[in-house]
Amino acid sequence: MNGGKPGIVYLVGAGPGDAGLITLKGVRCLEKAEVVIYDFLADPALLSHAPATSEKINVGKSVYHHTMEQREINTLLVNKGREGGVVVRLKGGDPFVFGRGGEECEALHAAGIPFEVVPGVTAGIAAPAYAGIPVTSRGCASSVAFVTGNEDPAKPYSTIRWEHLAQGADTLVFYMGVGNLAGITAELMRHGRSSATPVAIVRWGTKSTQRTITGTLATIVETAESTSLLPPAIIIVGEVVALRDRLHWFENRPLSGKRIINTRSRAQASQLSVLLTDLGAEVLELPTIAVEPAGRESALAAEIENLEGYQWIVFTSANGVHAFFNLLLAIKGDIRGLGSARLASIGPGTTAAINGYRIRVDCTASEAVAEGLLAALDAYTWEGVRVLLPRAARARDLLPDALRARGAAVTVAAAYTTVTPESVDESIKDAILHDRYDLITFSSPSTFENFAGLFGASGFAEIARTLRAISIGPVTTAAMALSGVTPVAQAREHTIPGIAATIREYLQK
Ligand code: SAH
Repeated sequence: MNGGKPGIVYLVGAGPGDAGLITLKGVRCLEKAEVVIYDFLADPALLSHAPATSEKINVGKSVYHHTMEQREINTLLVNKGREGGVVVRLKGGDPFVFGRGGEECEALHAAGIPFEVVPGVTAGIAAPAYAGIPVTSRGCASSVAFVTGNEDPAKPYSTIRWEHLAQGADTLVFYMGVGNLAGITAELMRHGRSSATPVAIVRWGTKSTQRTITGTLATIVETAESTSLLPPAIIIVGEVVALRDRLHWFENRPLSGKRIINTRSRAQASQLSVLLTDLGAEVLELPTIAVEPAGRESALAAEIENLEGYQWIVFTSANGVHAFFNLLLAIKGDIRGLGSARLASIGPGTTAAINGYRIRVDCTASEAVAEGLLAALDAYTWEGVRVLLPRAARARDLLPDALRARGAAVTVAAAYTTVTPESVDESIKDAILHDRYDLITFSSPSTFENFAGLFGASGFAEIARTLRAISIGPVTTAAMALSGVTPVAQAREHTIPGIAATIREYLQK
């Protein structure tokens, strides 16, 4: 119960697959949802817009089978709506285009529960768009029809009036039609549509796995069979299909068709994933580290109480920065608690993290490794200078040792520990074991070491020789060498954008 708050149900279109194709209004509904009821979602990442505390109910419809009857779904919506609060019914594509959203609204209306509909980008427009096919076009298509393809045209109960449809609209877009492709094409030709009419079928439109085949009404059945085309797919019939020759764009981006496994911690994975996805790759996130920041009882907390005693604070990772500043804010309640110490950073990612707290960095390494930072720090004098080094619990001693050798009094304090996450996605492990990936990224020694740990010693020995790994820089590469792995490439610039750039060069060779 929600304290007697009247309930409201939002029917929200999730878009066709690309997680960026949900509307702003849809995201806002998810952000305030107490309950999310979803079925098959082309991108489950959409659920992360909802609060972690919200109840998420999978009513289990997939493209292939239904597990909950529509009647039961309607009842569930009504019951959750009655309990009060914000309920989001998230539906693939647009809720009112072959989505049975109308029936769900009927049920809510009958029960007197308020509802609103947030339209979505429907697959019948988005899949052609990503295949380079405008569904209307001046000169060759001034009308378009959306048609269900799951009625077998050979059966007498078909409600589609093929005699009108065949020539009634310039562009015909069929949903759920792959299983009936032969019947659909035959019926269109039988009712006068030219057998030379271009046809395209787009599978998994807008996803990085999107595939398109083309032909004509006469040839497409054979092409679909020879390529074993499976649902979900959209079938487009009409002259507009020919525009694809010039307008296709999505399937030939730099990393289209490439599968890349990203091993960073979940919190950090997104930047690299976004960069690679934008280049067209399919990214599988396999977080091999979870970051546990130091708490109020830690040695770092004690040093933060005495920050006035330090002249420099040296940061060597974005994780260290966030752990440090969160603890500082928790202890001192105000960013001014930082005092007047100077700040040094190992590279652009760490600097950006510091700048995020509206704080400038006094010294940044030219090359993002400890040696580079040391070179930059050599511009200052260190005799008798007190330095705080908040960093990973396990790290190289090069930096503190070298600063001590220059006369500094260095305090090393663990800002965070990296641990192996509790669960990993078995399907991604499987992709590695069966060589169904193009590259795997490692952005620190611990991402690699924990990754190796996932497979056990003998299991890892088996994949080590064939692993196609990209390393962020020399320190990670050295850690890999200890396990007998040589990366296929090392990022030239030892940053996240540096990894993306090197992947692009490597895969386009
Ligand atoms: N309400 C949804 C359609 C649901 S019917 C919408 O507006 O998009 C399910 C059918 O939609 C599938 O059989 C397939 O024909 C089509 N479909 C959904 N997502 C698709 C995608 N990413 N690529 C191609 N077809 C898709």
